Amino acid sequence: MKTIRGIGASPGIAIGPAYRFQRVDLHVDTHSVHDVDAEFVRFFQALELAEGQLRLVHEKARREAGAEQAAIFEAQLEMLRDPELLGETQAAIRDQRLNAEAAWWNTVERFAAILEEMESEYFRARAADIRDVGRRVLRILKGITEEPVQLTEPVVILAQDLSPSDTVGLDKSLVLGFCTAGGGETSHTAILARSLGLPAVVAAGPEVLQIPSGTHVIVDGVDGLLIVEPDEQAKVAFVQRREALTRLREQAFAHCKEPAVTVDGHRVEVVANIGNVQGAFTAVEHGAEGVGLLRTEFLYLERSTLPNEEEQYQAYRAILEVFGQQPVVLRTLDIGGDKELAYMELPKEQNPFLGVRGIRLCLAHPELFYPQIRAALRAGVGYNLKLMFPMIATLDEVRAAKRIVEACREELCREGKPVADNIEVGIMVEVPSAAVMAEHFAREVDFFSIGTNDLTQYTLAADRANAQLSDLISAFSPAVLILIDQVIQAAHRHGKWVGLCGELAGEPLGIPILLGLGLDEFSMNPSAIPLAKQIIRSLSMTQCQELAREVLSLESAQAVKERVRERLPFLRLS
Ligand code: PEP
Ligand code: MG
Repeated sequence: MKTIRGIGASPGIAIGPAYRFQRVDLHVDTHSVHDVDAEFVRFFQALELAEGQLRLVHEKARREAGAEQAAIFEAQLEMLRDPELLGETQAAIRDQRLNAEAAWWNTVERFAAILEEMESEYFRARAADIRDVGRRVLRILKGITEEPVQLTEPVVILAQDLSPSDTVGLDKSLVLGFCTAGGGETSHTAILARSLGLPAVVAAGPEVLQIPSGTHVIVDGVDGLLIVEPDEQAKVAFVQRREALTRLREQAFAHCKEPAVTVDGHRVEVVANIGNVQGAFTAVEHGAEGVGLLRTEFLYLERSTLPNEEEQYQAYRAILEVFGQQPVVLRTLDIGGDKELAYMELPKEQNPFLGVRGIRLCLAHPELFYPQIRAALRAGVGYNLKLMFPMIATLDEVRAAKRIVEACREELCREGKPVADNIEVGIMVEVPSAAVMAEHFAREVDFFSIGTNDLTQYTLAADRANAQLSDLISAFSPAVLILIDQVIQAAHRHGKWVGLCGELAGEPLGIPILLGLGLDEFSMNPSAIPLAKQIIRSLSMTQCQELAREVLSLESAQAVKERVRERLPFLRLS
């Protein structure tokens, strides 16, 4: 028996034989062509065929795996029409007289390499998409039809990484789980596994690729482990754990539309983190009572030009309609740091996470900020919209942002346009200075939402995207929990409510601590909502308050987690 460690990218336990997924090797030979026009025709015919295939694949993905999966193929369709990608390929055929295969593949590789160089995990993941679409065109040019993988029994898929096209042909009813050598939490395999509700471990390293098909393996998507050839004892333990987990999840889903009230009658709000309208539908399906974090940057990241006020208005309106009178917290643009806009030339920074990001960027670029605020104020008419500013570090920043909201409101009124009034305005508390000075900030705003993802990285001075620091960067660190406690207390003294929209809100072991600290709103990935609500319904507020006081005095994140497990053994499961 051997245990390989990776990152748990989708929770659950899968047990079964391994299936080593390997892609057909598409060798590209390079030669010169005499008839350039004929080569152009071949190239454009291949693009047309690829487009047809992608449309079919898009429809299949939409039916089988949902809108989020299908969106990947929409993005690939856009890539097929990308003027730069096509322009460079044509130039290589025309000027260098290269055959279409070589001209196309060289261009695809060049673009993918540029994306891979970017800081942002989002763009690095897009490199895989561009190669995926590139291989599709290449296969057509070479006349190769890729046989879909024929699975004959339920298996655990092992691969270097899986592209959307690799997985669309897989019979998902025979997939028990995934483990990839590469990838990250935003890789395609991770997204697919979460949308199918299958366990997955990613970034498990090259050892995964040495395991032959048929080997018995266990994927533990909770703790991020791949167990190879488990002994009898391990098998029995994991089977029991899997059964208990399945029961728990089924039960949780069946009750996901019910409120989250503790056994002693304390109710909290459980809402979703979303980035677009598909996320809104998924959130409602999973029992979200509104949106605690609408990451508006996705609207900007998924395009090749800046969205104008009208486009933003339509996008926000579509999301607000899904939630009716339930609250939707719209976070203004949080670009910078690891999230770059390819179409906006911003100066390179030595420390982008400590640079001009979030509200700093918006205050410095009114041409970005005004249209967004105007769109939000217009879209909020008749709905329960709240505005939230990211990366606030000083009081001056909140005041400046609030002044812009007022200026936009006045502007719209002058133009005779309907404007939402009485909108609550809040801030993300994700920079330690905002947490430390929460008392002052509480006077300026209507609510706080604690962003533990960033608050943890800044408190521990550890880059959240650096895999080598994963042991250091834990929101369970008492340093972070002490800040959370101070923020909640300060807000409550001023009669303001506090939400938390970092990953900690959906962590089974984090929930009792946050409840005990008095958190009012838990905002999380939609798929985490049913279980989070179920956990809240099984806890008592008094028990959580005691636990919270205890963990604040502990020395390490590890000790905090251990204490929660000791006090609440049923949480070991999830
Ligand atoms: C956070 O920092 O905790 C947060 C929710 O924001 P994001 O992950 O989008 O930076
Ligand atoms: Mg953040």
